[in-house]
Amino acid sequence: MEQADSFQQSACDVLKQRFGYETFRPGQSEIVSAILQGRDCVGVMPTGAGKSICYQVPALVFAYGDQLGSQNEWAFLPAAALTIVISPLVSLMSDQVMALKNSGIAAAYLNSRLTFAQQEEVLSRARAGAYALMYVAPERLADPRFLSFAASSGSIALVAVDEAHCVSQWGQDFRPSYLGIGDFIRSLPVRPVIAAFTATATPRVADDIVRLLGLDGPLRMTTGFDRPNLRFEVEQLSDKKKLARIAARVLANPGESGIVYCSTRKDVERVHEALVAAGARATRYHAGLSHGEREVNQRAFVNDDAPVMVATNAFGMGIDKSNVRYVIHHNMPGSLEAYYQEAGRAGRDGEPSDCVLLWNDSDIATCRFFVEQESGNEALTPEEQQLVRASQRRRLASMANYCMTTDCLRATILRYFGEGEQAGVEQGLGLDAPQGCGNCSNCDGDVDAVDVTVTARSVMRCVHELRGRFGKGIVADVLCGSKSARMREYGLTNKRTYDIVSDSPALVKEIIELLTAGEYLEISEGRYPLVGLGPRAREAATDEFRLYMKRHRKSTAATGRAHMASFGEGVSANMGSSGASNASGAVPLSTEEQQELFERLRQLRKRHADEEGVPPYIVFSDAALRAMCALRPATDDEFLAVSGVGPVKLKRYGKAFLEEINGER
Ligand code: ADP
Ligand code: ZN
Repeated sequence: MEQADSFQQSACDVLKQRFGYETFRPGQSEIVSAILQGRDCVGVMPTGAGKSICYQVPALVFAYGDQLGSQNEWAFLPAAALTIVISPLVSLMSDQVMALKNSGIAAAYLNSRLTFAQQEEVLSRARAGAYALMYVAPERLADPRFLSFAASSGSIALVAVDEAHCVSQWGQDFRPSYLGIGDFIRSLPVRPVIAAFTATATPRVADDIVRLLGLDGPLRMTTGFDRPNLRFEVEQLSDKKKLARIAARVLANPGESGIVYCSTRKDVERVHEALVAAGARATRYHAGLSHGEREVNQRAFVNDDAPVMVATNAFGMGIDKSNVRYVIHHNMPGSLEAYYQEAGRAGRDGEPSDCVLLWNDSDIATCRFFVEQESGNEALTPEEQQLVRASQRRRLASMANYCMTTDCLRATILRYFGEGEQAGVEQGLGLDAPQGCGNCSNCDGDVDAVDVTVTARSVMRCVHELRGRFGKGIVADVLCGSKSARMREYGLTNKRTYDIVSDSPALVKEIIELLTAGEYLEISEGRYPLVGLGPRAREAATDEFRLYMKRHRKSTAATGRAHMASFGEGVSANMGSSGASNASGAVPLSTEEQQELFERLRQLRKRHADEEGVPPYIVFSDAALRAMCALRPATDDEFLAVSGVGPVKLKRYGKAFLEEINGER
C-alpha cells in the first residue's frame, strides 16, 4: 500500500515535471493508478481525451521509479523497466516518439520503416535499458528478432495496446496481426500489466478486447464522449453549394489548420483544386497518390506549411496534430463511429473548433450501395457476414438520422455512444446527454422543426399496404395520386393509400428517408432499392409517435465558428459550460494585443520547429501559446505555470519565448 502511495506521488510528479500538466483529466488518474497497482485496464476514451498519458506516466514511473524528481534528463539514465506500446499507426509512432524526446524522455520505435541495421540498433539499446518506452507495430510481434529480445528480457513491465478495437472482427478496423498480441504476452517470461485503449467500443468489441488480449480482471474505464470544445454543424447542400461553403470556411481564416474529408479520390482532387485556385494553402491525400507524395503532403500539413488537408478517410488515423481548428465533411460517412472519429481530429488541444458535416441524398444512396457491395470479411461465416451487414445498415440509419434530426447534435451523438456504455462498462464517469448544448447548429436556433407526423403515418400505412415491394419513387407516387401509366400498370390506383396526401412527391420522399433514418422504415439494397417496414415500425403506429423535419430558416453558409466571435465572449461562455476534456485551461484571447502576440508566438514556434525538424505542435500546443498570451509570464517560474510547460521545455524554449512575450528583441 505504501508503495502504491509513493507511486501515486510519483505519477503526479511525472505529469508536472515531464508533461507540464497540473492535473490528470477524468479517467486518466484511475487508469494510471490501476496500472501502477499492477491491474490490467481497458480505457475507452474519445479522441483527444488523453489516452497516451495513461500509459506514458506509468511507463516513466516503472522506468525511473525512485530517481524521479532528482533528475532533469532521464534520457541519460538506464531504465529499470520497459513499456511496450503496440500501435498500428506507423506515422503516429514516430510522432509520439518525437514528442517524448522533445520532453526529454528516452523512447524509440520499431517498425518496417527502419532498416534491418536500425532495428538491430534499437533492440540492442533496448537490451541495455536505454528506453522507457518502445513503440512497436503489431507485425513486429511475429519477428523472431523482436521475440527473442522480448523472451530474454525480464524487464517488460507494461504492454499498452493502442487502437485495441483492431483486435475485434466486429469493428471496422480489424487487423489480423492484433490476434497475435495475446500469444505474444503469454510468451513473455514475466507477465506484464496490460492496458488496452480505444476510442470506439461497443460492448461486444470491449468484450473481444478483454478476451482476445487475455486481460485479467481489468478495470474498465469509459470517460464521457463529450468534446465540449467542438461545435457541431450539419448542413444539407447540393454538391455545387458544398464547394462554396467549404471555400468560405477555409478562406475565412487562412492561417488556421483544417481537414476536409471527401468520400472519393475524385472529389478530393476537385475540392483541392478549387481551394488552391481560391488561394488556400491546401494539400491532399488519398490512396491513389504515390507513397512518397502522401508522405510529403502529410508532412506539409503537420508542419503547417499547408495548413489545409483535403483527403479521403485514408488520412488521419496516424495524425496527432493537435491544432486542427475545423474538420469539414464534404460527404456523409457510413456511420456515426466513423464520423465522430474523423470529426474528433479537430480540437485535440481543447481549443474551440468546428465539425461541419455537409450532406445530401446522394451521400445516403452511396453509403447504402457500399453496405451491400462490401465483399465482407473472409474470416466470417455467411451468417456472421449477414449480422455484420445488418449492423452496418443500422449504423448508416443512425448516421442519416444525425443529418436529419432536429435534436441537439451533441446530444444525438452522446445518446448513440451512451447505449454502449450502459450495456458493457462497469465503471463509467457519467455521460449526461445535455438537453441542448447551445453549441451546435441545431441549438443555435436557425433551424425550424416542421411537424410531418400526419404524412409520416400515411407513408407507413402505404408501405405496409404495398408490402415492401416498391421503391421510394413509387411509394411517393401512390400517396400523391400520380396519374402516371405505371400506377395503372401495377394496379396501384385502387390501393387504399392512393392519393391520400397533399404534399409534393419530393417532400414525401424526404419523409421516407427521415423514417428510414429513424429505423421505422428500411430501404433494402440491390439494383432497385425497395422500401419496407423497419425494426421500429410498430412505434410509428403509437399515439406518442411524432416526426419532425428540419428546415433551415436561412443558410448558415460562410459562418462557422467565425460567427461565434472567435476570440470573444461566445467562446468563453461555451468553454464555461464545458466538462472534462478541456479542463486543460483553454484561454480565450480577448484583446487585439493578445491576438497579435499569439500570431508572433505562432511564428516563433514555427521557427523553432523548423530548426529542430519537428512539427510546431510538438514544440508547444496552441493551448499553451494561448495561455502564454493570457498569463504573460515574465519569469521562469511563471513560464512553468503555463499548462504544457515542464522543466525541459523551459530550458529549451523559455528564453526565446519569454523575450518575445516581454518585448525584448
Ligand atoms: P488521445 O490519444 O486520447 O486521442 P492524446 O493522448 O493525443 O489523446 O492527448 C490529446 C491532447 O491532450 C494532447 O495534446 C495531450 O498533450 C493533451 N493532454 C493529455 N492529458 C492532459 C492533461 N492531464 N492535462 C492537459 N493536457 C493533456
Ligand atoms: Zn446542441
